[in-house]
Amino acid sequence: MEWCVSMPKVELHAHLNGSVRDSTLIELARDLGEKGIIVFSDVENVIRKDDRTLHEVFKLFDLIHILTTDHSTVTRITKEVIEDFASENVVYLELRTTPKRNDSIGMSKRSYMEAVMEGLRSVSSVDVDYTPSGLKTDTSNGTTRKKIYVRFLLSIDRRESTEAAMETVKLALEMKDLGVVGIDLSGNPIVGNWTTFLPALKFAREQGLYITLHCGEVPNQEEIKAMLDFSPQRIGHACCFGEENWRKLKSLKIPVEICLTSNIRTETISSIDIHHFADLHKAKHPLVLCTDDSGVFSTSLSREYTLASSAFGLGKTEMFQLAENAIDFIFADEGVKEDLRAIFEVATERLD
Ligand code: 5GP
Repeated sequence: MEWCVSMPKVELHAHLNGSVRDSTLIELARDLGEKGIIVFSDVENVIRKDDRTLHEVFKLFDLIHILTTDHSTVTRITKEVIEDFASENVVYLELRTTPKRNDSIGMSKRSYMEAVMEGLRSVSSVDVDYTPSGLKTDTSNGTTRKKIYVRFLLSIDRRESTEAAMETVKLALEMKDLGVVGIDLSGNPIVGNWTTFLPALKFAREQGLYITLHCGEVPNQEEIKAMLDFSPQRIGHACCFGEENWRKLKSLKIPVEICLTSNIRTETISSIDIHHFADLHKAKHPLVLCTDDSGVFSTSLSREYTLASSAFGLGKTEMFQLAENAIDFIFADEGVKEDLRAIFEVATERLD
C-alpha cells in the first residue's frame, strides 16, 4: 500500500460530493442537528453504514447534498477533496461535480461553481495548476513545493431536463478558462432516458468540450449501444455489457474509467475475481483506475491500485505503467501531458 501511495497517480473519475471526508459529513450533520433541521443520530447511522446497493447510494447522495449544498460548504469540501488527493500523490485530478441550483438559498449553477473555484483557490497544502494558461495558486514563497493539476468536469444528473443540461454545458463553456474541460453524464442509471441529454451533449462536443458518460451500470443494452455509437472520449464503469456491446467497446477502443471498490460495494459486480478489469487489461484496452466516490466507499486511489495488485496479480512495473498510461486519456492539453510524463519519468528513477 505504501508503495502505491508514493507512486504518482492520475485520477479521472471522482465525484466531488462522493469524495467528502466522513469526519466532515459528521461535523456538518451535527451542526444541522443542533439547528433542528435534521435528526443527527439517524443521519450518523446512514453516513457510517458500510455496504450499500447502488439504489441506496443515490439515497445517500440526496442526504449528502442536504449537508453540503450551501456556498461556504461547497468551498470547504472542494478544498479538502483536492488536498486529500494531493496528499496521496495524485498529480493530476479531474474532479467532476453537478452544478446545483437552489433558489431558496440564492444558489445558481454559476454561483455553485464559483464556490467550487473559491475552494480550489483556497487550497494551501499544495500548489494547484488549474487553467489552460497555467494560472496557478502559489503560496510557496519561492520554495519548491508539491503541485497538483486540477481540471473540472461538469456533471449532468439524469434527473435533469434538457434545458437544465444545456445550462450546465453553457456554464462549462463560460468556465473553460478556469479549468473546466468537459461534461459528464451521471446520476441514478435507472432514472430518465439518456436521449434527453443528447442535444446538450452534442452541443458540448461541437463546442470543443470533452465528454465522458456513465455507461453500463445497469444492463440496458440498447442504451449502452447508443452511448458507444455517440463515441464519447471516455466512459465510466462498463459493468453490465452484453457480448455484442463488449465487442463494440473493444473495437472502438474507448478508454474505460474503472472503479473497483465502487462496483463491488454497490454489488454492480458480484465479486472482484470476475471484474472486467482483468479481461480489459489482458486485451490491452485503454483503462484507468479511479475512486468514483472515495468518501462514500471509504477508499483512495492508492487503495484502488493496491486492490488491483492483489486481485489481479499486478507487479510494481505493471501498476506504474497503468498509472502512467492514464496520461493519454486526460482531457487537458498536450503541455500538461508532457509535464506529467516528465513527473513519471523522474518517479521511475526514484521508485524501486
Ligand atoms: P456531485 O455531482 O454532487 O458533486 O457528486 C455526487 C453525484 O455524482 C451524485 O448525486 C450522482 O449524481 C453522481 N454519482 C456519484 N457516484 C455515482 C455512481 O457511481 N454512478 C452514477 N451514475 N452517478 C454517480
